[in-house]
Amino acid sequence: MNIHEYQAKALLKGFGAPVAQGVAIHSADEAAAAAKQLPGPLYVVKSQIHAGGRGKGKFKELGPDAKGGVRLAKSIDEVVAHAKDMLGNTLVTAQTGEAGKQVNRLYIEDGADIARELYCSLLVDRSVGRVAFVVSTEGGMDIEAVAHDTPEKIHTIAIDPEAGVTADDIAKISAALALEGAAAEDAKSLFPALYKAFNEKDMALLEINPLIVMTNGHLRVLDAKVSFDGNALFRHDDVKALRDETEEDAKEIEASKWDLAYVALDGNIGCMVNGAGLAMATMDIIKLYGKEPANFCDVGGGAGKEKVAAAFKIITADPKVEGILVNIFGGIMKCDVIAEGVIAAVKEVGLKVPLVVRLEGTNVELGKKILNESGLAITAADDLDDAAKKIVAAING
Ligand code: GDP
Ligand code: MG
Repeated sequence: MNIHEYQAKALLKGFGAPVAQGVAIHSADEAAAAAKQLPGPLYVVKSQIHAGGRGKGKFKELGPDAKGGVRLAKSIDEVVAHAKDMLGNTLVTAQTGEAGKQVNRLYIEDGADIARELYCSLLVDRSVGRVAFVVSTEGGMDIEAVAHDTPEKIHTIAIDPEAGVTADDIAKISAALALEGAAAEDAKSLFPALYKAFNEKDMALLEINPLIVMTNGHLRVLDAKVSFDGNALFRHDDVKALRDETEEDAKEIEASKWDLAYVALDGNIGCMVNGAGLAMATMDIIKLYGKEPANFCDVGGGAGKEKVAAAFKIITADPKVEGILVNIFGGIMKCDVIAEGVIAAVKEVGLKVPLVVRLEGTNVELGKKILNESGLAITAADDLDDAAKKIVAAING
């Protein structure tokens, strides 16, 4: 689960990290009052969307010459003008995809005078089984490009979970970032605070790009992106409360309500499967026959008819779907339950695209019988290969 920058900063502030004063707003009417709470004379107006690259992003409605999604302002009037310009419009960044994201919230922040922009993130480094700091002096820009072009400028410092962030770790991180004076002093409390926040809140990623050295020599968290481990959300009601469903794919929200694993992809065949391995195999074989999956929805083991119906509805709600392949191996999951779920869903939402069903395993004969007697235009398949060929043929007309 992701949160907005302003929420991440409030959370990190609670752990003692240095962040600027700021106020989040939902409408341009609030902009002047928000800015008046800040010291000035420099303000920053920041679009709050769950995607990075906002500064270099472009608003669809404003044309190519308009400023991006993070703007500096030198007066309260300018803050208000930017707020009016940005709110409600669609920001397209390198991370949003072509569709972009509508900006519904802004963060008005006290502006900093920047001397250096650094990169600092924490993540779970699976190769060493530890939480690691990944840092670079090349902050504020596309870190993937830095990693690709100049990998020697990226440093990874893994933390021993028993010892926590030691003085030696801090020295290594500070050296990698060439921190001196006040910034090196700030580092002694900042890096342990970030590590504590990461662990206590079960984060999956904490990315500060940029972490800045200000002209007064001190460090400040200028941008913050936080993702939480969804499997640990049950123990963080405070984090769950930060969820902004308007930022999430409606189908993924619906899927999570039913505890279904749904993944949206770029092709045009919708896939209902059970088990991640079967999902991968199904997608491979679709690709083998020249098509691409639009999504897959894993109904898991032991789902009831209602859950199967919900999965089917989520798959068909995707306008890219030109055909559906149901590929179920009935082990714990029974084939007749799948058949009933599919029929219930089709009766409710209709069937506008070809549907190929391949069932195997427990109660397979009963499942096939239920499908055959349903009167619906369902193509039965004998095995995975046959199923993939049939759905590809159906789409190709
Ligand atoms: P992103 O584009 O989504 O990564 O948004 P950031 O929060 O990282 O802001 C983008 C860029 O705007 C930063 O790299 C800075 O160069 C600039 N910026 C953001 N806040 C300030 C500020 O307080 N003062 C100054 N001078 N520049 C800022
Ligand atoms: Mg940034």
